[in-house]
Amino acid sequence: MKALPGSLLQQLQGIQGFDEASFIAAHQQAAVTSVRRNPAKDLGLFPSNEQVPWCTSAVYLPERPVFTLDPSYHAGAYYVQEASSMFLSHMWQHIMQGNEGLRVLDLCAAPGGKSTLIASLLDRDSLLISNEVIRTRASILDENMTRWGYMNTWVTSNDPRDFAKLPGYFDAIIVDAPCSGSGLFRKDARALDEWSEANVKLCCERQERILADVWPSLKEDGVLIYATCSYSQQEDEQILDWLANEYEVETLTVPVADEWGIVTVSSPEKGMTGYRFFPGKTRGEGFFIAALRKKETTDTISVHRYKTAHDKKIQQQASYLLSDTDVIFLQTDKENFGAMHPAHEEDMQLLQKAVYLRKTGLTLGTPTAKDWIPAHDVALSIDANSNLPCLHVTKDQALHFLKREDMGIDDAEKGWLMIRYKGLGIGWVKSLGNRMNNYLPKHWRIRMELTDSDW
Ligand code: SAM
Repeated sequence: MKALPGSLLQQLQGIQGFDEASFIAAHQQAAVTSVRRNPAKDLGLFPSNEQVPWCTSAVYLPERPVFTLDPSYHAGAYYVQEASSMFLSHMWQHIMQGNEGLRVLDLCAAPGGKSTLIASLLDRDSLLISNEVIRTRASILDENMTRWGYMNTWVTSNDPRDFAKLPGYFDAIIVDAPCSGSGLFRKDARALDEWSEANVKLCCERQERILADVWPSLKEDGVLIYATCSYSQQEDEQILDWLANEYEVETLTVPVADEWGIVTVSSPEKGMTGYRFFPGKTRGEGFFIAALRKKETTDTISVHRYKTAHDKKIQQQASYLLSDTDVIFLQTDKENFGAMHPAHEEDMQLLQKAVYLRKTGLTLGTPTAKDWIPAHDVALSIDANSNLPCLHVTKDQALHFLKREDMGIDDAEKGWLMIRYKGLGIGWVKSLGNRMNNYLPKHWRIRMELTDSDW
């Protein structure tokens, strides 16, 4: 790896818990690989791997496999996530656990690491809005959230300022802010090339703007979780001081075991608590996270009761796709129908006036004159009816399916079949007896060329 920027090392001198020798030594080593299992799609994967201490569903891997070649990855059985950022799980469990029916915004959500983590910690009546302002990144977020399979995680693609139209609506907001990225030097060589003091300054101005934009939509006593993958105090502690100067807030702390190597820091001016992760001290990449509670009266948007049209015919056709029929049905676009938890009907009416809703509830598919074309999302949903006709496939067959190639199966029953790998859905085929049409959306296809040893 290239030498670390001298000006960064200089900035870090004197920062609580910084040890230059172990920091430089850690940057001579490869980034640590870790994955977080999906508790709702539990295949008992990686049983003997070492657990990430602050996240019970996550483990370290001794090396980085080619995840694309594992169909259970495509089924959403686990998410590949850098270990330090999973500390959010520990924080959430201490600060938010036991609360039900929450409205949560993950403002800077792509590709979906924090959102998939939070989705697994929420009850069914809670609603997670995963937002990503950059449209191309929003589509990756959408795929990852669909793969994770939860009906109560919706995807929006809006500028932070649009959320000001929803005053006092959210119980918790996560701002995993765009930053100068020094914490990612081991993972991403570009971060090292692009790092500069000038960029740190630009990032911290943008971070303040983002926080100011979204602040009105947090309710009184709501929780803001702020994170970056930067070591720079300007983007971390000083942002906490800025928040405490601008607004009425209270700092929140969580217990941290000494052996985790996480450094608990205090902001210089207001004594706000944050948690910093240095490679070399902690098993993970560079990261910073803090939580605070809003302590000021906030206007709250009123939620009016509306009713969506409930089409009986659609209900009958669609409900067989689901294990739980305590849902309401809605038309998601010109052709597609979907379902969502009844608890979220008013949220949809409200949100669609304020933001661009890219994904709401679960898309169920498209009715045709004689048929129902099931949406890909149903195969990945944790709410899919487990008795739907299906075809259990081997790893080879799953990879052929995921490449949209012929699986070499010619004796399957006719009709719509969910393709299942190790029991988890990965997509649909329509079997015509002697051949099958593959309904994996083209943009989900594995594009990588596979060699003999990959199968
Ligand atoms: N939370 C994500 C995860 O855990 O997978 C990582 C988020 S990444 C650190 C920051 C995100 O903020 C990026 O997806 C980036 O596109 C988005 N972003 C960039 N500029 C932004 C802006 N002005 N307002 C809001 N988000 C922005």
